[in-house]
Amino acid sequence: MTLSASYARLPESFYARLAPTPVTDPRLVEFNGELAAELGLGLDAADADALAAIFSGNVLPAGAEPLAMAYAGHQFGHFVPQLGDGRAILLGEVLQASGLQRDIQLKGSGRTPFSRDGDGRAALGPVLREYLVSEAMHALGIPATRALAAVTTGEQVRRDGPVPGAILTRVAASHVRVGTFQYFAARGDVEATRRLADWVIARHYPAARDAAQPYLALLAAVTARQAALVARWLHVGFIHGVMNTDNMAVSGETIDFGPCAFLDAYDPQAVFSSIDRSGRYAYANQPLAAEWNLARFAETLLPLIAGTPEQAVEQATGAVLAFAPGFAAHWLDGMRAKLGLEDALEGDRELAEALLDAMHRHQADFTLTFRRLCAAATDAGAGVRALFTDPGAYDAWATSWRLRLARERRTPAALALAMRQVNPALIPRNHRVEQAIAAAVGQQDFTPFATLHRALARPYDDRDEFAAYADPPRPGERVLRTFCGT
Ligand code: AMP
Ligand code: MG
Repeated sequence: MTLSASYARLPESFYARLAPTPVTDPRLVEFNGELAAELGLGLDAADADALAAIFSGNVLPAGAEPLAMAYAGHQFGHFVPQLGDGRAILLGEVLQASGLQRDIQLKGSGRTPFSRDGDGRAALGPVLREYLVSEAMHALGIPATRALAAVTTGEQVRRDGPVPGAILTRVAASHVRVGTFQYFAARGDVEATRRLADWVIARHYPAARDAAQPYLALLAAVTARQAALVARWLHVGFIHGVMNTDNMAVSGETIDFGPCAFLDAYDPQAVFSSIDRSGRYAYANQPLAAEWNLARFAETLLPLIAGTPEQAVEQATGAVLAFAPGFAAHWLDGMRAKLGLEDALEGDRELAEALLDAMHRHQADFTLTFRRLCAAATDAGAGVRALFTDPGAYDAWATSWRLRLARERRTPAALALAMRQVNPALIPRNHRVEQAIAAAVGQQDFTPFATLHRALARPYDDRDEFAAYADPPRPGERVLRTFCGT
């Protein structure tokens, strides 16, 4: 594994250079051999000790120029001018054969100048959660940072009580966040903002370089990717939980899987995160939160946009306002696909909304409703109605759905097959994630984690051995709250 380091070529104000703090007894929990191969890392998957040494930070790969990135961020609406990697180290970057460049970062690798009161470490539970959920998002086809490895450190970290320490190796298109731009903008450092913008354009949005106004094109491109991303979240019932500007990657990947959760029964106002008391990041508020973050991003770019300050504001505002229609179009496209509709017809939005409304009123499980709907396209008795506390509410909706399906050109079988490719059978259900974590942390039993991980790798397939993972929680199993666990 040989790394390059383009971020380390940026000015010294962008980061603090330091190596990970070694740990006493690193042991490999999981290694993502498929991802390692895709990245061309040339690592020997059989040599667990060598992998544990690298992914604990005890041994640095060739070419590594380790650093902690500086960033700021709005946390629940309040601006914090300095956050930064308080427990993460960017080891460097890999250039894939495809020409794509990706970051390799250790999370939980020790204190940095950005740690404030934190210990710089990560606990095993949150590491396993990020591993499972980020990989599940990828398998679902949703842009997300990836998990390359998880190791335990052999050290305890103190959270509510002592818990095993661990380190996650995260792979990302990059780790530049809206908050990275805010860090320089808040300091009035226009030159640094420009350097960062140029780096981001080169890395993620090369077409913007040739636009009449590259920084405006950057803003428009980031806005477009976020609109697509958040629509995808809603389509699978994902609730990020902590959409602060420091947790929004400008690449358009889902990043930071702290208190995230998935809907069980459909409820647009669902909130799981223990720290989200006002419901700012509730399921259905996520598009608004993303647009708010993009407005903060736009503010950082104003000095780089041509014309008078008023003209810059007007143009940037225009770019951010494209979020809402972009999101609405992606949302509707995805909902059409979920309902088996290929053609775009008048009334489709209302049809989708009517189903969600009935699901909400009658507590239907989000994932199961859409999965069983795939079978209902060919078989009237597919068991969807039983998911509603009043099955008649589904029947009434299904009558209009079938009328609409009759206008489709595809055969019912073809339509059902297409629906199965967009309505997952398996998502990382909150209670399954918690069970996997509890077994690993409490009994050093990693079998539930490994099994769940295997189940989630092919979310659109019905496989008998994983059938139970499609089930909603029983009343006593329901997870009501999630915690950052930092
Ligand atoms: P997060 O909640 O993970 O988005 O982190 C918000 C900020 O807190 C970032 O600057 C993190 O680096 C920092 N942070 C979170 N946990 C720790 C920790 N255990 N030690 C030091 N810094 C931390
Ligand atoms: Mg974060």
